Amino acid sequence: MSRAVVALGANLGDRGNTLRAAARAIAALPGVRPVASSHEVESVAVTLDGPDATKPRYRNAVVVVETELEPQDLLDALHGIEDEHGRTRAVRWGDRTLDLDLVAYDDRTVDTVTLTVPHPRAGERAFVLAPWLDADPDAVLPGVGPVADLLAAVGDDTDRVDEPRLFDDTDTTGVRP
Ligand code: ATP
Ligand code: CA
Ligand code: CA
Repeated sequence: MSRAVVALGANLGDRGNTLRAAARAIAALPGVRPVASSHEVESVAVTLDGPDATKPRYRNAVVVVETELEPQDLLDALHGIEDEHGRTRAVRWGDRTLDLDLVAYDDRTVDTVTLTVPHPRAGERAFVLAPWLDADPDAVLPGVGPVADLLAAVGDDTDRVDEPRLFDDTDTTGVRP
């Protein structure tokens, strides 16, 4: 079994419901077992032109899973879940109902046309680092460093949403050895 970290994001529709449904769908994938999940956070939309307060705000979260799926197979499954939630891909970094990114997969590096792991922009995004640290206080971005240090360096501009963690089963909250 490998351990994978998936970042979830949404800024259109019922974002909280979408993130919870997506987390359930990820946990229910064949060959996937939930390990931990974060609370949701909110932050300003970032477009190719930078932060844009006129766009709908984002909800983000992170789930940690154990999986038998190879990274590309896991990404394909994540894209299937995005499609079920009406994801379209018109504009790079444009508004979306659901975005699922494979942030890390064990300490493996993958670099193909369709998949780069660890996710190359994860280390500079508080909306990934803050929920990842929430799900796993000992998290390390492979090849870069502890998530806690990275988050301290970029600054946490996210707001914790006052809702339960995405996985509602308390047995799956918090990474244990
Ligand atoms: P960003 O990658 O900066 O977060 P994005 O999530 O908006 O941007 P998408 O349009 O969702 O980008 O994805 C574009 C392509 O990125 C996908 O089709 C996928 O093949 C590729 N990709 C490469 N590495 C990853 C990864 N680690 N996780 C998800 N997609 C990836
Ligand atoms: Ca993304
Ligand atoms: Ca994506």
